[in-house]
Amino acid sequence: MENKLQKTIPFSLQQAMQWRERFGTPFYVYDEQGIRNTVSSVQRAFSWNRGFTECFAVKATPTPAILRLLASLGCGTDCASVSELVLSDSCGLSGRKVMFTSNETSEEAYRKAVSIGAIINLDDITQIENLERSAGIPDTVCLRYNPGKFEIQGKNATSAIMGSQADSKYGMTKTQLFEAYGILREKGVKHFGLHCMAASCSLDASYYPTLAEMMFNIVVEVKEKLGIEIEFTDFGGGIGIPYRPEQEPVDIEAIGKAVHEVYDRIIAGRGLEVSIYTELGRFVTGPHGYLVTSVRGFKHIYKEYVGVDATACDLMRPAMYGAYHHITVLGKEGNELKVDVCGSLCENNDKFAIDRVLPMAQLGDILVIHDAGAHGRSMGYNYNGFMRCGELLLSPRGDVRLIRRSESLDDLFATFDVDEDFSYDA
Ligand SMILES: *Cc1c(COP(=O)(O)O)cnc(C)c1O
Repeated sequence: MENKLQKTIPFSLQQAMQWRERFGTPFYVYDEQGIRNTVSSVQRAFSWNRGFTECFAVKATPTPAILRLLASLGCGTDCASVSELVLSDSCGLSGRKVMFTSNETSEEAYRKAVSIGAIINLDDITQIENLERSAGIPDTVCLRYNPGKFEIQGKNATSAIMGSQADSKYGMTKTQLFEAYGILREKGVKHFGLHCMAASCSLDASYYPTLAEMMFNIVVEVKEKLGIEIEFTDFGGGIGIPYRPEQEPVDIEAIGKAVHEVYDRIIAGRGLEVSIYTELGRFVTGPHGYLVTSVRGFKHIYKEYVGVDATACDLMRPAMYGAYHHITVLGKEGNELKVDVCGSLCENNDKFAIDRVLPMAQLGDILVIHDAGAHGRSMGYNYNGFMRCGELLLSPRGDVRLIRRSESLDDLFATFDVDEDFSYDA
């Protein structure tokens, strides 16, 4: 009955076993063809908009091979830190292809962002001073708006990841926004943008159209009240993916069309023109990344446990947000046993699934944890001295390439006081 609730996997059990031989488990594998298809679906949906750019949120998958692939497809990046800026720059992305959307920003980060020509997206009106002091005011500046209240179809947009807008630390109020545009014009800014990200992981097809309506109205108001023509609106990320097999994916083409209608009514209808930027992370790579892990043991106590060689250090989302990630026991079918799937951290939230009915697994079976391509490996950490796993890229021809090796003890110990006499035998 539940078998139609399976998720597809772009590789076979045989391939996964070969990769385990070569690289060991756990590892992430990303499906290049899937990423290509999703990027072109986004670009097609917004092809009506001159200047449309998807600035991939680097934090979702900060690996050069992935960023280069996205750059080759015409994407830019959205960065929030010095390292993400350096990564973008070294993957050939700089200038207006890079959005720098940060908060509580360091002077060093402003300097780096300005030095590579990234578009600075100011999180707050008080940041104008900080930007000016640390890097000077560039001629293009974007401002991040927090609407305080944001409803999609009459419901307050809230998520486990971001909370509601009134509770979110990002962006400035409308009054501050207008004041900031005025101040920046005084300081010589020539090109303006407007940014707002009001939801996370939204599967509601009306999210972007609703956001667009609100933002386009601000564009008009800024023009009318201040005489400033905002040149681009950045919708942030926030389009969700169906983590659960019974959920439907969003129809990006329909979303693009709906935004187009709002655009024609509010923007084009008044003889204005704005480019649209998106900063989709999860939507672009999320479904195309798989965490592959091997079963290393079983426990039968008050509950049934399946132990695997990946931990929350490799994929934190279930521990962090109680997020659902679908799991396939590769090569097996049926729903035979209700289990918790666990890693080996000394933290009881180190569970990839709780009370999940899975086929009966055996020692050495390969488990595939789905939809781990965004905010997966990148959110990893080193608690308990566990090391994060490596990453493979599956080419459209079916071969894989190691794009990030797994961490070693040397990596883990590299930050200890260099003067201290510390040696070890692995
Ligand atoms: C995290 C983030 C994104 C990407 O969010 P997704 O949910 O991956 O689409 C985009 N923009 C900003 C400013 C973010 O903080």
